[in-house]
Amino acid sequence: MQGLMMDRPLLISSILDYAASNFATTEIVSLGTGGGEHRYGYAELAARSARLAHALRSLGLETGDRVATLAWNNHRHLELYYGVSGIGGVIHTINPRLQPEQIAWIINHAEDRWLFVDTTFLPLVAALQPHLRSIERVFVLEPADAMPADSGIESLHSYETLIADQPDQMDWPELDEHTAAGLCYTSGTTGHPKGVLYSHRSTVLHAYATAMADTASSGRGDTIMPVVPMFHANAWGLPYLAPIVGARLVFPGPKMADGATLYSLMEDEQVTYTAGVPTIWMALLQWLRDNDRTLTSLRYATVGGAACPPSIIREFAERHGVITAQGWGMTETSPLGSMSLLSAQEEVALGEDGQVERRAMQGRPPFGIELRVTDDDGQLLPRDGESAGRLQVRGAWVCSSYFRDDGQSDAHGTDGWFDTGDVAVIHPDGWLQITDRTKDVIKSGGEWISSIELENLATSHPDVAEAAVIARPHSRWTERPLLVVRPSGKRQPTMNDLRAQFTGRVPDWWIPEDAVYIDEMPLTATGKISKLTLRERFADYRFPSDGA
Ligand code: ADP
Repeated sequence: MQGLMMDRPLLISSILDYAASNFATTEIVSLGTGGGEHRYGYAELAARSARLAHALRSLGLETGDRVATLAWNNHRHLELYYGVSGIGGVIHTINPRLQPEQIAWIINHAEDRWLFVDTTFLPLVAALQPHLRSIERVFVLEPADAMPADSGIESLHSYETLIADQPDQMDWPELDEHTAAGLCYTSGTTGHPKGVLYSHRSTVLHAYATAMADTASSGRGDTIMPVVPMFHANAWGLPYLAPIVGARLVFPGPKMADGATLYSLMEDEQVTYTAGVPTIWMALLQWLRDNDRTLTSLRYATVGGAACPPSIIREFAERHGVITAQGWGMTETSPLGSMSLLSAQEEVALGEDGQVERRAMQGRPPFGIELRVTDDDGQLLPRDGESAGRLQVRGAWVCSSYFRDDGQSDAHGTDGWFDTGDVAVIHPDGWLQITDRTKDVIKSGGEWISSIELENLATSHPDVAEAAVIARPHSRWTERPLLVVRPSGKRQPTMNDLRAQFTGRVPDWWIPEDAVYIDEMPLTATGKISKLTLRERFADYRFPSDGA
């Protein structure tokens, strides 16, 4: 027997309609690429998204057509999120920090028809244009009078002119909720980037799940500032979550890594919730220390994309009264896979140090995500907090196969689980702890060493700003861990100082015998420490104990 309930599709346009009707004047604040500040409410977002949608239809957009963006976090990028998907188009957010050849490859692979860009990226587009096979027109996210005089780009148009004379009402089509809505390529450190194609249904379900009390825990009283870019897994879904819960949105435009701007925005706009990768928070915390400032309104900082060092968790809590919510996820998981927020009772039971230890793990999956850990032969490992293996995931917002992958990837198993490429243990209460990525794993004497645990201990030393542990060959042990340290000040901590961090906290045979020092950590396109680059840089390194 079938239930007798209405069948309403889960559509991105319904998020926009809902916010426009219920939070018409709730603000979206946005810093302009060329400076200045822009403010409007959700009703105007809906009106301008409708104008964009009409304009795209008049250009000939058909369901499934891809529309690419190279843009910062700002209100026009948000209009593209809603205007494109709302009429059945696919918004393809491109990471401008990828190699230009990769960007050209991605655009050709996706067969994007139009490209919307912030002025920052015009030189990049000018260089790429001769290699782009599918782009019909390029639109600059500016009014006509702010268009560059000589960009060297053919068929360059103004976004504001495009949408200027269009109607600001739209009867959004009732699409099938499985229709594709967004496309995002992973950075592809090995081989070509892989496209993750989100649907309306997956996007809406992800936004619902993210809003829950023990995940993003956000509501109408919040002002959310995504510092994670809108080209990195949809700014972790926050542009969809904020209008669902009625929160204000603050977009830092191109100033994503600028401590002074982030601080002023947080204080002036009374930001309560923010999200970004650890390197961003490390830089902001340093700026706040150097300038003797404290954050007064921020409640939560979501830290994800890479393991969050306990030093960040402590400093946010002790100096700024901010709770760190570590999230684990991937582009392939929309991205939320787990979040480590503690309940009030857990906080009391754990005490201060216990809280830091727990928050430094990756937390529980929200309902809708299932996690499991297997050995290399696919055998399920127990959830005992000790058995480390391959982390696999499934759920309604997990990618089922890559876009036009032609069977290249083997990450999607035949039994409906996705192999994340992460190594993890699951604790008996369901708490996830990532110990490594399979490609970064250190195998010494046949056993795994967790680079994340070593890095977390190293960064707890006051003289260490950032740490990375990489595998280097060793004639006796196959591989041993090498500690790469960026000191926090002028003093280089000696290996003796650092050894004390590890002793008694990890097995003795895990402890690195040597450290090397570096002035700046190399970063990936998504702002994470690039271990690939570090391995290349220290390719000739030999351990002192390796007499070979
Ligand atoms: P990219 O690989 O392109 O940088 P993703 O954001 O999809 O982009 O990266 C996902 C990977 O990031 C995960 O598989 C995992 O290795 C790592 N990651 C994300 N969040 C965390 C976290 N909280 N702790 C440890 N690793 C994380």
